[in-house]
Amino acid sequence: MTKRHVHVIGAGMAGLSTALQLALSGEKVTVYEAAPFAGGRCRSFLDRELGCRVDNGNHLVLSGNVAVQDYLYLTNALDTMGGPGAPVFPFIDIGTGERWTVRMNKGALPWWIFDKNRRVLGTKPADYLSALPLLKADATDRLGNLLDKSNPLYRRFWEPFIIGALNTEPDISSALLLKNIFAQTFAVGGKACIPLIPKVGLSESFVQPCLNTLRQHDVEVKYYHRLRSLLWEGDQVRELDFNGTMIEIGVEDWVVLALPAWFMRELLPEVPTPTDFRSIINAHFRVDAPDDGMGFTGMIGGYAEWVFVRNGIASVTISCAERHKNIAVRDMAALVWHEIAQLLHLDPAHVPPHRIFLEKYATFAATPEQNIRRPTSYTGWKNVALAGEWTATGLPSTIEGALRSGMKAAQVVLRWGAPQ
Ligand SMILES: Cc1cc2nc3c(=O)[nH]c(=O)nc-3n(C[C@H](O)[C@H](O)[C@H](O)COP(=O)(O)OP(=O)(O)OC[C@H]3O[C@@H](n4cnc5c(N)ncnc54)[C@H](O)[C@@H]3O)c2cc1C
Repeated sequence: MTKRHVHVIGAGMAGLSTALQLALSGEKVTVYEAAPFAGGRCRSFLDRELGCRVDNGNHLVLSGNVAVQDYLYLTNALDTMGGPGAPVFPFIDIGTGERWTVRMNKGALPWWIFDKNRRVLGTKPADYLSALPLLKADATDRLGNLLDKSNPLYRRFWEPFIIGALNTEPDISSALLLKNIFAQTFAVGGKACIPLIPKVGLSESFVQPCLNTLRQHDVEVKYYHRLRSLLWEGDQVRELDFNGTMIEIGVEDWVVLALPAWFMRELLPEVPTPTDFRSIINAHFRVDAPDDGMGFTGMIGGYAEWVFVRNGIASVTISCAERHKNIAVRDMAALVWHEIAQLLHLDPAHVPPHRIFLEKYATFAATPEQNIRRPTSYTGWKNVALAGEWTATGLPSTIEGALRSGMKAAQVVLRWGAPQ
């Protein structure tokens, strides 16, 4: 009997995760990708102006991201991740120049909040009770209604945490999505909050090792394959149209669409998808500063939120960049450099060689309205499953969410695709 064939469209984190799970389950898999490379919104590339490889954007993952850990384990890439090795988060307040490091204890009982040298500077243990309303959050709650902005913890913890994790204006953000992240990280304790940062780059940790594993399982990845349309026979896809190159889909075969939400809306308008997105600016500066061993610093009160210093490059994330839409992207470089210079004790007047990238559709807006527009991986169609960070993972747009969506799509194929 010939093996059924699973066609995965899109080689971002979701598509790679789907292909990996299916290949490890013994399925015959082919991946199709529009770009000449894999990784989608999570990749590294050679920047000729800076003369080195950079990531498309800083990505922070935590040890509590279990799908990330599983994916790195299955692709033999755990060793490619570095970071401080402990639940520590260095911060600087750009307005006051104050610096502090949050040092969580590893266990579930958060005694670190009782130690002024471990908690957020300027806060008291009672301020941490501001997390309690989050426990009751439901699908309609917005963080703007739940969190007390006058609490000292708001500006120095909640605001940067929300913007970093949800990439959406805190006032309108979904409390449920934050609660779900919180439940897997801070609520578990410091052992689930250890930052994991690629030692070399995103592709070296999240893309290349997976491609190697897929190759070992005879999975072919076909680049320059942009899906244009699906040809149906009843509730079954029978052909894929890649700009005129047609791929036939056998009656036992499956198609997993691991495509971005904005393209899914064009391809299959009947599938509900998020319709509102947020951008992220990433600025990379060539710097003469040593790696500090921590890998990153949180910035409070400036434009930059997180600065990662690695291999002579300081990379800055400016999330929810719509908040700064009156500033031209090129002007942002000088503004942000002032902040980095303050952090690294460098000359603010001398802006070094740099590159600025704007990812316009970086994530879907993590609001209650957008969250209910996320479909499950199971479509009800006979041979089509969905993956993508925008599907109903319960998480905001993250690597963890994308990888989980791939696992779910693979489960749909394995469960519903079994020979009847
Ligand atoms: C700047 C930035 C910073 C981020 N920071 C973090 C972070 O700190 N932590 C975190 O966890 N997450 C972060 N994220 C989010 C994370 O990167 C995404 O959630 C995740 O990578 C999405 O993966 P995906 O596979 O669902 O989608 P995508 O990466 O968009 O993958 C979709 C793939 O489909 C391909 N494709 C598109 N159209 C077609 C077509 N017609 N035919 C064939 N292929 C097609 C695309 O080229 C792409 O490779 C960040 C994202 C950005 C952009």
